Amino acid sequence: MSLWKLLQVSSAIRSSARSASYLGKVKYDYDLVVLGGGSAGLACAKEAVDNGARVLCFDYVKPTPVGTKWGLGGTCVNVGCIPKKLMHQASLLGEAVHEAVAYGWNVNDQNIKPDWQKLVKSVQNHIKSVNWVTRVDLRDKKVEYVNSMGAFVDPHTIEYSVKGGPKQQATAEYVVVAVGGRPRYPPILGATEFGITSDDIFSYDREPGRTLVVGAGYVGLECACFLKGLGYDPTVMVRSIVLRGFDRQMSELLEAMMSERGVQFLHTTIPSSVERQGDGRLLVKYRNTTTEKEDSDVFDTVLWAIGRKGLIEDLNLPAAGVETKNDKIVVDSTEATNVPHIFAVGDIIHGRPELSPVAILSGRLLARRLFAGSKQLMDYADVATTVFTPLEYSCVGMSEEMAIQTHGPDNIEVFHGYYKPTEFFIPRKSVRHCYLKAVAEITGDQKILGLHYIGPVAGEVIQGFAAALKSGLTVKTLLNTVGIHPTTAEEFTRLSITKRSGRDPTPASCCS
Ligand code: FAD
Ligand code: NDP
Repeated sequence: MSLWKLLQVSSAIRSSARSASYLGKVKYDYDLVVLGGGSAGLACAKEAVDNGARVLCFDYVKPTPVGTKWGLGGTCVNVGCIPKKLMHQASLLGEAVHEAVAYGWNVNDQNIKPDWQKLVKSVQNHIKSVNWVTRVDLRDKKVEYVNSMGAFVDPHTIEYSVKGGPKQQATAEYVVVAVGGRPRYPPILGATEFGITSDDIFSYDREPGRTLVVGAGYVGLECACFLKGLGYDPTVMVRSIVLRGFDRQMSELLEAMMSERGVQFLHTTIPSSVERQGDGRLLVKYRNTTTEKEDSDVFDTVLWAIGRKGLIEDLNLPAAGVETKNDKIVVDSTEATNVPHIFAVGDIIHGRPELSPVAILSGRLLARRLFAGSKQLMDYADVATTVFTPLEYSCVGMSEEMAIQTHGPDNIEVFHGYYKPTEFFIPRKSVRHCYLKAVAEITGDQKILGLHYIGPVAGEVIQGFAAALKSGLTVKTLLNTVGIHPTTAEEFTRLSITKRSGRDPTPASCCS
């Protein structure tokens, strides 16, 4: 090659905004193939196209055992965050109607009930509109989208088939695996025949009625709470403890709040079988693992909320040589697998939070690193999260237990307090579980390690504090911040009682 030609080639490489190699453009059909069109995959695909890459994105949803299926957009949009938040809102509105009477509204029928079918239809209509906008967005952005499963043939080749048609192949310089997960079913008699999961509940064609919710993680608690708020009768079956991994005190408060509202709990219990009775209802047999006592009860619906498994089995990962752990993909800090040009983002990666904004940001940052020369890594630390129960629980940073374990009990200070939201007084709502705490270092300006809040709209309250915590918030700064009155978020600016002091953390005044 002449010197002039060489210079032209190197200038072409330099002027390209992306890092896909010049030779790569010739060698493969696409710069990037993304497997999975959920929060992570779509964010990655769109960002890659914005930075000049040629991208092909596969998304396909296998129906659930009872036949539920949905469109483009992944778990969050179709069977996760979005329908869950809408059902949560529907249940909060039921509470608000009763409160409205105390505030002087003439709500004639105090026995008002929601119309489940109408609610499901409204939720599903919203989801369909999001599916549509997502497809249009992909078309406008020129992300090629194929509604098919994709599986590896070799490390650069993906095989797929559209609507049962012939098998086709596409090659790519980079492959991003963003296939997420699906709910687990327990290996017991009747689990898949008679039980449903969060994949089914938001489009369930009949009223759930008396519901057994198995599992006490995010999904279990949230589903039980919106079902209760909508007038059904949920029982939560807890294998070990509620919200394992979260701050214990906050989790126990949350459970107490749910019990106060009429959610039943079966502690240290696991299911043994589910059978359909002659009357169509479900007989569930179960065992208490503490007492070893066996028992049974009858429910209209059984909802498994026992965690999610990563969807690695259809990917034919051995053909690409990608390492897995349990049912997840192992990645390094750049989201690269052990095969350097194959990456994974979102719920499918091992040992990272399964949250939509985490999936989105990590997908976007990965695309920028691949195609825009960025070096920025995803920071998985101090990710804020909310459990959408009627009094929500939101937190960012360390639990009290983790702070004690990391820094030692003598090196942390916990500021805490109960509080009384002003708007709770007129309808005489229980303020018993409105509580917040800041876990901080004991010395200096007292850097805050974790913030925890149970109360109305906790997610909205903690979101801003999460940015402050990531910026090095201290107790000194927090207490120097002037509150917005009368809000519940301002309670963070008035935290003055430490656990160590032994002083009573309940507020002295009657009325906020
Ligand atoms: P997904 O969104 O699951 O997308 C993966 C997509 O890939 C799916 O469409 C899947 O069908 C498809 N796919 C799988 N295999 C293949 C293949 N081989 N080829 C092609 N396509 C394939 N997070 C929050 O932050 N806030 C919340 O309030 C919240 N609520 C939730 C409520 C529920 C009930 C659930 C279940 C989850 C909730 N989450 C919430 C978690 C959130 O939904 C997930 O973290 C997020 O959707 C993960 O995105 P993802 O792109 O990794 O995977
Ligand atoms: P989790 O892992 O949070 O909880 C699973 C629950 O099921 C635990 O209580 C677990 O008990 C129990 N369990 C597990 N196996 C069995 C079994 N064989 N029999 C009985 N009980 C069992 O999973 P989820 O499905 O609730 O949530 C999955 C993820 O989705 C979450 O980690 C979260 O990241 C995301 N999500 C986020 C939401 C949000 O942001 N608001 C809402 C919903 C989901 P044990 O503790 O004993 O293991």
